[in-house]
Amino acid sequence: MKLPKEQIIEIFKETKALLEGHFVLSSGLHSPQYFQCAKVLQYPKYLHLLAGEIARHFEYNDIEVVIAPAIGGITVATEVGRMLGARTLFSERVNGRMELRRGFEILPNERTLVVEDVITTGGSTNEVIELVKKSKGALVGVSCIVDRSNGKVRFDAKYFSVLQMDAVSYTPEQCPLCAEGSIPPSKPGSRGNY
Ligand SMILES: [Zn+2]
Repeated sequence: MKLPKEQIIEIFKETKALLEGHFVLSSGLHSPQYFQCAKVLQYPKYLHLLAGEIARHFEYNDIEVVIAPAIGGITVATEVGRMLGARTLFSERVNGRMELRRGFEILPNERTLVVEDVITTGGSTNEVIELVKKSKGALVGVSCIVDRSNGKVRFDAKYFSVLQMDAVSYTPEQCPLCAEGSIPPSKPGSRGNY
């Protein structure tokens, strides 16, 4: 049974992974929401609960390797890999290029699941998919806890997100919260709010 969306949102708010207010994102855009997935994954029971949704979705797919792009996806990938009894690797950027380091490898035809915490544009996820293909591994699935792509991402594999949470953002000129003027925008992290 899939966790109800309302219950997940409640957990995000309780752990302050999801903040509501008026924020300046790292892109410079303004948003009424700020989401930091690591905040919820620091709690073992929630990590287990959310990773469990992914593991259950792929439990009959004979996953042999789970791989995450560093850093955000590592925690959840490790828990998914533990539940599926699969090796867990992570890729990292070297001079801007996604690579497997530390002696990590994907063997030809190994059944591979790519795991992310949050997918926004799908950029780093696609780079990991390319690594799987380059290693001649078998890409079985792609998954994440939160899909913030507003329905835009597509992958050439079985795709599962625990939650779709559309991202809302505005240029400062178009921001309704700025127009309203009651709450000044804050940068997450700058006021001790995350
Ligand atoms: Zn604003």
